[in-house]
Order: sequence, then structure tokens, then C-alpha cells
Amino acid sequence: SLDTIRRILRYCQQLLHNDHTDASIPPIDTSLMNGYDPELWRALQREEFELFYQPRIDLRRGSICGAEALIRWQHPERGLQTPDSFIPSCEASGLIVPLGYWIIQEVGKTLPAMKEAGLDGRIGVNLSFRQFQDRHLAPTIERLMQQHLMDTRTLEFELTETALCSDEEHVRSTIRQLSSQGVEFSLDDFGTGYSSFSLLQKLPITTLKIDKSFVDGIPGNPDDEEIVRAIINLAHNLNKQVIAEGVENRAQLEFLIRHDCDQVQGYFFSRPVCLEQFLSLLNTNRRQ
Ligand code: C2E
Ligand code: CA
Ligand code: CA
Ligand code: CA
Repeated sequence: SLDTIRRILRYCQQLLHNDHTDASIPPIDTSLMNGYDPELWRALQREEFELFYQPRIDLRRGSICGAEALIRWQHPERGLQTPDSFIPSCEASGLIVPLGYWIIQEVGKTLPAMKEAGLDGRIGVNLSFRQFQDRHLAPTIERLMQQHLMDTRTLEFELTETALCSDEEHVRSTIRQLSSQGVEFSLDDFGTGYSSFSLLQKLPITTLKIDKSFVDGIPGNPDDEEIVRAIINLAHNLNKQVIAEGVENRAQLEFLIRHDCDQVQGYFFSRPVCLEQFLSLLNTNRRQ
């Protein structure tokens, strides 16, 4: 309804124009936001969302080299909700657009504390294909980065192949524009979608993330072993880094080290943890 659109606009204006020094950022395209869940909208207003962080481990240095930011919803009655229960609805309604900006803002606010605790690497932020439908994605992100004095070399956006394969020049130019500011991009769930080699070469993607479904089968499943090896080789031949996701045990880790994988992420090291716990992981990491 009109009323809800007005509320969203007001919220976005608050979010994006709170210092009123730059009038160059166009307003959010509200045509993308229809029929969202009023409970999720309230949750955004009441700041019931929270970012958890899952450390990434550099296999050569043997230390934490960044993290992935993963959203949670602290529901007042139902407790902690994982993204699979609300992100699809946010994507369907377009609420992911303002929520996505809230996420970037939140990372911006917490980066100084992470650096203070010794963060050496990037924070990966998931970008949904739906966020690219906001024509002002790149300038708005740039503005948020300026507002929070974010060092662009500490941000990395995780994209899925779905986002890239929408074959739109707009998606590619957005990526190029942000990349020219020092932001990096990684390809999430790699191997499960359809990306062409030419696209991998054309776009400034610095990292491939091997999907957990392949990591689950190593060692032991010959197909998964072959796929994991192939992705690692592909990444390195294209001068990209490669991260294995969903590493849960020692045998998987050993396989990945043996095959020259660069980084890992998974329950074997740490589940996604709240900011406070992530900061103490960083502090421990630094003391080692
Ligand atoms: P994803 O980007 O593929 O994130 C990895 C998921 O795997 C996370 O689930 C993480 O907790 C889980 N995971 C990591 N290591 C392990 C492991 O060793 N074993 C197992 N079983 N799982 C592991 P989570 O946090 O529930 O997120 C699910 C999905 O929701 C994400 O998949 C991502 O697509 C989406 N999502 C999460 N946060 C955000 C966000 O801030 N923005 C957007 N647009 N999407 C998000
Ligand atoms: Ca991800
Ligand atoms: Ca993933
Ligand atoms: Ca996934």
C-alpha cells in the first residue's frame, strides 16, 4: 500500500541521507518493494537483525584471514532465526534491498573494532541477485562506504552465479564500478550454477568458493574429489583464490591442503559466531 511504501522511503532516507551532505544519491526504487512480510519490515525497523561472522582460515599462514558475515534474526518470541527462513521472503518482496544496505552499514560500523582486534583480510558480504535490480546499488554502496569511512580493501561481496548470469550489462558495470574502488568479488556456491569461462575471465572476480555439496564428498567420493581438484586448478589457472566451504572434519581439511586450496571455512574451525565472539577469536589468533 501507499502507506507502507512511504514508510520504506522514510526509512531509506533516514538510512542514506542522515548527514545531508550529499544529495547526489538517488532515492531507492520503491517499485521493487511490494507485498513484503510486515513482521520482517518491523524487524528491520526495530533492529532485530544481527550479523554473525564465520572465520575464514588461510591454509598457508594457518590463521584467520577474514570472515563471512551471515545474517540472523533475533525474533522476540521464536528466538534466533537462520536466513533460510526469511531471506527468500525478503528476496521475493524486495525487502532485501533496504536490508542489504543495513547489512553493509552494520559491517561498516563494526570494522574498526575488528581491525583493532587484528583483522587481516576481508569481510565477505552476501549480495542477492535481487539487490542488483536496484539501479542505484553501486552509488549507494559507495556512499555507505564513505559515510562509515570503510576501507574498501576490507570488503568483499559474495555473488552467486544466478546474479551474474542474468546477462545484464547493468550487473557487470555495477561490479566493475565497485571493483575499481577496491572492493573485491567472489563467486559463491561455485559449481552449482551456470557460469561460463568467458564470464569468469571478463569480470573482476578474485575468488571462487567451492560449494559445500562437493566438499561433503571429499575424501572418498571420486566424482566430488575430481570436481574439487578441478575447481582449485581452474581458479589458480585464472589467477584467482579458492575457498572451500563447509569443512567439517580433518580428512576434508587434509585433502584440501594436499590439493593446494587457499582458504577454508566451516564448522571444523568455527560456526558463525556473534561479533563479540568473533572479536575474541581474532584476539586469540593474533596472540598465536
Ligand atoms: P551461503 O552464503 O552459502 O553461506 C554458507 C552457509 O553455510 C551458512 O549458512 C553457514 O552457516 C553454513 N555453514 C558454514 N560452514 C558450515 C559447515 O561446516 N557445515 C554446515 N552444515 N554448514 C556450514 P546460513 O548462515 O544459515 O546462511 C544460509 C544462506 O543464507 C547463505 O548461504 C546465504 O545464501 C544466505 N545469507 C546469509 N546471510 C545473508 C546476508 O547477509 N545477505 C544475503 N543476501 N543472504 C544471506
Ligand atoms: Ca556466501
Ligand atoms: Ca556458499
Ligand atoms: Ca549455499
